[in-house]
Amino acid sequence: MKINTPDALDRLRKKAADNLVPLTVHIDLTFRCNEKCVHCYIPKVDVSSELTTRRWMNVLDELAELGTLFMTFSGGEIFLREDIFDILDYSMKKRFSTSIYTNGILLDEIKIARLLKTRPRQVGISIYSMDTAVHDAITGVGGSLKRSMNAMKLLNVAGINVVIKTILMKSNWRGVGEIQKWVSSMGRGAVHQYDMIVSPRHEGFRNEDELNLGHGEKIEFLCMRNSNMEEKERSEGMELKSVKRRLNVAPCSAGRNGAYIGPSGDVQPCIEWLIKCGNVRGSSFKDSWMSAGMDEARAFRIRDLNGCSRCADLQNCQICPGLNKLDTGSALIPSMLSCNRTRAVSEYFKIKIGKQKNG
Ligand code: SF4
Ligand code: SF4
Repeated sequence: MKINTPDALDRLRKKAADNLVPLTVHIDLTFRCNEKCVHCYIPKVDVSSELTTRRWMNVLDELAELGTLFMTFSGGEIFLREDIFDILDYSMKKRFSTSIYTNGILLDEIKIARLLKTRPRQVGISIYSMDTAVHDAITGVGGSLKRSMNAMKLLNVAGINVVIKTILMKSNWRGVGEIQKWVSSMGRGAVHQYDMIVSPRHEGFRNEDELNLGHGEKIEFLCMRNSNMEEKERSEGMELKSVKRRLNVAPCSAGRNGAYIGPSGDVQPCIEWLIKCGNVRGSSFKDSWMSAGMDEARAFRIRDLNGCSRCADLQNCQICPGLNKLDTGSALIPSMLSCNRTRAVSEYFKIKIGKQKNG
C-alpha cells in the first residue's frame, strides 16, 4: 500500500486500528530540559528513572516487530541525552519514519550534520514570537530565540524538513503573522503549526487560565490570519475545517493505533491521556498494549461523552478525551478549554461565511 497520500494514510491507520497495531508511537526520552517554559506541562523530573540506551533499543526492536512505522522522539530536550544519536541511529536501522521535537538550543552545524545521517522525517521546534523579549520571556532563557532560529535555519539549509510550532498565549498571539512570514521565506521544507490551547499541567500547579486566549482574542486571531496564511494551511492539509462526526466512532487514535511511552518507561494511550497501562522497564510493550487501560481508551466513543452528541458545534470540535481527563478529572466530561476553542472556531466560520455572502 502506498502511503504518500492522505487517503492511503487514513486507510493504513484504520487497518492498524482494526488489527491492534501500534502504528504511531510517541516516546519522551527525557523530561530534563534547558528551557523553563511558562506553559510546560511536564511533571517533576526524576533523571535516575530514565530508561537506558539498551532498554530503549529493546523497546524499538519490539515495536518494529509489532508493526510500528511512525516514531516520534520528544521530551524535555532530547539532545540533553548523551546517547541521543545512538537511539536515532537505531531508529533509522529499524526503518521507522522518525520525527523529533527539540528546542534546538544545543544544535550546531556539527550536530545537524550528524542528525542528517539519521534521516529524520522532520524536526519540530517551538518558536513563540519573532520578538526576542516575548519568546525569551516564555522560555525563561535569555538568547533562546536566537539559538532556536539559528538551528531552524541550519536544519532548513541541510535539507531537513522543519515544523515550527507556536502555542498561542496572551503574550504572543498578536505576533504569529510575523512567524508565518518567516516560515514562508524558508520555502517548501518548512511548515507552521499553531495550537490555541495551553493544557493543564500533568501534576499540581495550574496556570493555563492566565495564559490562554480569551474568546474575543481567539476570534480576532482567526480573523486576523491573512489569506496567504489560510492558503498555506490548506496546502499543508492543516486548515480549519468542519468534520462530519459520527457518534459511534472513536474520537482519536489514542490506544487504537497510537501509544505513548514516557522517559521512565510508563505506557499510556497518548501523551495527553494519563491512563497507566504498564511500564516497559521490566515487561514487554505488548503487555501494556494489551492492558485493561488501553482497552478503556479503545472502547471510548463520541456518543459516550457527556452532552457532545447534542452539541451544535460537534463538527467543529477537536474532541480530546485526554484533555478532558486532565481538566475535569474524567475523559467523559468535556473540558471547557476544548469547548471554548470550538465555540470560537464556529463563530469564526459564521463570520467568514457572512463575509463571503456579502462579497
Ligand atoms: S464543543 Fe464541547 S460539548 Fe461540544 S462537542 Fe466539543 S467537547 Fe463536546
Ligand atoms: S485527541 Fe487528545 S487523547 Fe486523543 S490522541 Fe489527540 S491528544 Fe491524545
